Amino acid sequence: MQVMKFGGASVKDAEAIRNVANIMVQHATEPGLTVISAADKTTNHLEKLAYLARDGKEAEALEQFERIKRFHHGLISDLFENGAAEVYAQVDGFFEEVERIVQGILLLEEFPARTYDRIVSYGELLSTSIIAQYLRQRGEDCIWLDARTCIKTDASYAQANVIWSVTSNLIEKQVQPLLKTGRILITQGFIGSTISGKTTTLGREGSDYTASIFAHCLDARRLMVWKDVPGILNADPRIREKTIKIDNLSYEEAVEMTFYGASVIHPKTIKPLYNKHIPLYVKCFKDVSLEGTCISDQTNAELVTSYIVKKEQVFARIKPRDFSFMNEQLMEVVFNHIYKTGVKVNLVHNSAISLLLCMDDIPARIKAFESLLLDRFSVDMQQGLKLYTMINFTIKDLKQAEGARMIQQHDNKLFIVKE
Ligand code: ASP
Ligand code: MG
Repeated sequence: MQVMKFGGASVKDAEAIRNVANIMVQHATEPGLTVISAADKTTNHLEKLAYLARDGKEAEALEQFERIKRFHHGLISDLFENGAAEVYAQVDGFFEEVERIVQGILLLEEFPARTYDRIVSYGELLSTSIIAQYLRQRGEDCIWLDARTCIKTDASYAQANVIWSVTSNLIEKQVQPLLKTGRILITQGFIGSTISGKTTTLGREGSDYTASIFAHCLDARRLMVWKDVPGILNADPRIREKTIKIDNLSYEEAVEMTFYGASVIHPKTIKPLYNKHIPLYVKCFKDVSLEGTCISDQTNAELVTSYIVKKEQVFARIKPRDFSFMNEQLMEVVFNHIYKTGVKVNLVHNSAISLLLCMDDIPARIKAFESLLLDRFSVDMQQGLKLYTMINFTIKDLKQAEGARMIQQHDNKLFIVKE
């Protein structure tokens, strides 16, 4: 069996949805499960709706609500010639639920963390319902699966952690029998639920991760993630003029690239695939004949250099106040503070009397971290930096190190932190 995943851009309007449906039908020659994201920027729009309600901006919230509803009604009217009553009914049912949640926030002036997840989860519920019904209209036997009945998580809303043992049991029990029926099976990316049934989400852009969880638990032959690019490029075309499409990447290279900021796939996607040696194909939905990129045990044989930039970095120089050595004991103190405050560290470097860190700029956490440190250390921080990562770097890439705050090189990777 295989798992496929389509992101928001691939289902952004009726024409795009028709194309996705064609691809799904073409690939229905073997049992499969397709994971789909919210259409276009719906998650952002729902997020905005939630925040407007939280801030008590009733009129604006209702306007935003209507905008999201109109967009989905537009998809339905473009996709369905007749027999759309059932689709409207289902979609409007979801919108009634969203409206009730929004009214609740406005009325109670309360916005608990779990409410964010409830609201944003409707993006995927809406898109997958419309697409499943559209496939049925085209004569396909299509089953809509609620991902929340399979993907079980803890209650860390907005960043929920998967409870693997329960999830894999549920997928086995619920999805395996459906696959045997040979129908097209559609589910939502990004969403899950707690054991007690509260809706959760796996973190923004988390649909790739959902697809990888299903692929892992179903022992898929492969996962295909469909994108609007011809495959994984060695650099972001918005940043570098000349880019090269990479044919093959190892799991390790892919993890390094995504961790350090390549936004092609969600960083959590690789591990579940790696653990079962399931290849991940990044394919282009605009031209299905293109080979795409394969992430597997096989490495990037051509040794193409990849250039990745991670913005909004903070550089910190931490020194013991009393000129002591930065020994293991003091390092333990620093790392404890890192753990407690949840700062995201990308690079670490130590010397006799200092420890250097490059971290994501998450202001509240950085501030908490700094104030804990100040007890024993002097801290010098610089914000507004970028972390440049070069995988399979060459000598000429070293030129970029000029003016850097921090440089590190190991194996085939070069890291440079500068303005
Ligand atoms: N719809 C969600 C988001 O936009 C998940 C995803 O697209 O992967 O973050
Ligand atoms: Mg998305």
